[in-house]
Amino acid sequence: MSEPTGPDLPRGRRDDTMARRRRLELHWKMLIGLLVGAVAGLVANAWASSKFIEDSVYYAAYPVGQIFFRLIFMVVVPLAFSALVLGVTGIGDVRRVGRMGFKTLVMTVLLSGISVAIGIGLANWIRPGARLPDEKQKELQEKYKTDAASKVESAKKAKSVRDTLLDIIPKNPLQEMVGALDGSSPGGGMLALMFFALAFGVAIATSPERTGPLVGMLEGVYDVCMKIIGFAMKLAPVGVAGLAYSLTAVLGLDILKALGWFVITVIVGLALHMFGVYSIVLVFLARYSPRRFFTRGSEAFLTAFGTASSNATLPTSLRVTEKSLGIRPEVARFVLTVGSTANQNGTALFEGVTVLFLAQVFGHDLNVVQQVTVVLLSVLAGIGTAGVPGGSLPLIVLVLMSVGIPGEGIGIILGVDRLLDMCRTSVNVAGDMAIAACVDRGEQAKTVPAPPPAS
Ligand code: ASP
Repeated sequence: MSEPTGPDLPRGRRDDTMARRRRLELHWKMLIGLLVGAVAGLVANAWASSKFIEDSVYYAAYPVGQIFFRLIFMVVVPLAFSALVLGVTGIGDVRRVGRMGFKTLVMTVLLSGISVAIGIGLANWIRPGARLPDEKQKELQEKYKTDAASKVESAKKAKSVRDTLLDIIPKNPLQEMVGALDGSSPGGGMLALMFFALAFGVAIATSPERTGPLVGMLEGVYDVCMKIIGFAMKLAPVGVAGLAYSLTAVLGLDILKALGWFVITVIVGLALHMFGVYSIVLVFLARYSPRRFFTRGSEAFLTAFGTASSNATLPTSLRVTEKSLGIRPEVARFVLTVGSTANQNGTALFEGVTVLFLAQVFGHDLNVVQQVTVVLLSVLAGIGTAGVPGGSLPLIVLVLMSVGIPGEGIGIILGVDRLLDMCRTSVNVAGDMAIAACVDRGEQAKTVPAPPPAS
């Protein structure tokens, strides 16, 4: 995860560049934390007495992890609200540019929806989390006390489809916020909160003259939340070590195997979306050769892979899209700038797989309504995610909790997040460039050819 960056791109990019060195150090530290914790846990699992394991987890490893998580949890609701409002306000602003804005918005939602569907389909098929034996799942449920959550879940299961859909529109958004993280909200919980944020963002975008100070305030809230997450991330290496220890000491090698399957599921999903879906979109909507797109665009994809940040890649992707792909500058500038914060297909896919994986790990089988909720929330979370390394992590916590899975579960995947972040950011950036190619084609079709010069 990164140091805070605001949604205003120049500043975000500046912060990105300045913080890159620190970030690199941090992700190495997190990997080391994972290894140290996992090895210590495996050693304890093989040789220590069960009393020692119980005490070391209860008094040391678990509280250390909790300090880290609670610092993150406490800003999840304000962060999600401000991020989504600002994301929509950005799109809404440009909507006034007309057709281009509308097309970008529609394609963003459509491509993100397809990507989450691919991710969820794969996670249901491969079932990475279900590779953890039953008795280990029970131990995990016991450890994270998910009973309360499963009660909430069964209460939700009882709700009719009509009520579930109606509950997306909150009667009282503040009440939804209060209960959003523990599933005790009276209506649609996080989804209702996001609906409120969407409506808020659209309303702001349609009356920009009077809402400037409000946007400024939300940017402030967003920056403060990101700052607090920055503080929490300083503790991340120790938190990850504590969590890895408590998992492997209790569960042994099985949890690492499940994690391996999770990584494979995400990478296969991202590859399918990048080379399958984008190729189809390029051929049919942009009439653009996928081969040309992937060879000429590779510099931008590699930069995204290296930086794990859509924002930091923006200068490169702009240059590559205009100069190498031959997209008109006015289209490229517009679509890529909006896309670097709002269009994050790879991230949406990753969020969907992560939620399903953790649901399987905790032995919660999500029903169809819950899986559709995950799709909707992941698409929205993709729009609200900052284009910085690990920008999606706080939003995954939120999606997890809204379907009754302990948010702490995210710790299981933190150690492998950087690798997956690099992969999903490449898909995010390629998605922006593919949309630019489609919008460019659409705009060309609208341009009336100039009459031939009179001889
Ligand atoms: N690193 C991603 C990006 O910048 C965001 C994320 O998925 O965490 O596009």
